[in-house]
Amino acid sequence: MTDAKQKVVVVPCSGIGKPLGTVSREAAYELCDNLRPERTRLVALSKLVLGDAEARDQVRTSPAITIDGCKQMCASKLVKHHGGRVAHEVAVFDAVRNHKDLKPKGIAELNPEGRELARVLAGELAVELDAIGGSAAEEGGPHA
Ligand code: SF4
Repeated sequence: MTDAKQKVVVVPCSGIGKPLGTVSREAAYELCDNLRPERTRLVALSKLVLGDAEARDQVRTSPAITIDGCKQMCASKLVKHHGGRVAHEVAVFDAVRNHKDLKPKGIAELNPEGRELARVLAGELAVELDAIGGSAAEEGGPHA
């Protein structure tokens, strides 16, 4: 028996001080608070960095969507490091290339283009999330 509505953990990177990192967090909030609150659970990267037991357990028991600012892919790497499975990963860096008219600026407060990029990215991730169904066991994948 499978749980088709399994929660998905959403892990944005912690690119504090960088517009790309701010977009990743804003996109995560939009996805988790507004677009798919019933299917998502936001996990702060800082908790994984600190080895928080609850955060580790959440990434080990649910598929993850990671939202990273740049190609360093810190969130994706940390989820995998803690035994989680990344069902979908995205870098804001790539999203900027795909949406050249939406250049994020600002850190504490994004410019309108940055906020729009976060909304667009969250919408794209909601579509990806809807394609993630069933249990983690059903989806398989390494847990090394
Ligand atoms: S993925 Fe890039 S922006 Fe995000 S925390 Fe890592 S180095 Fe910083």
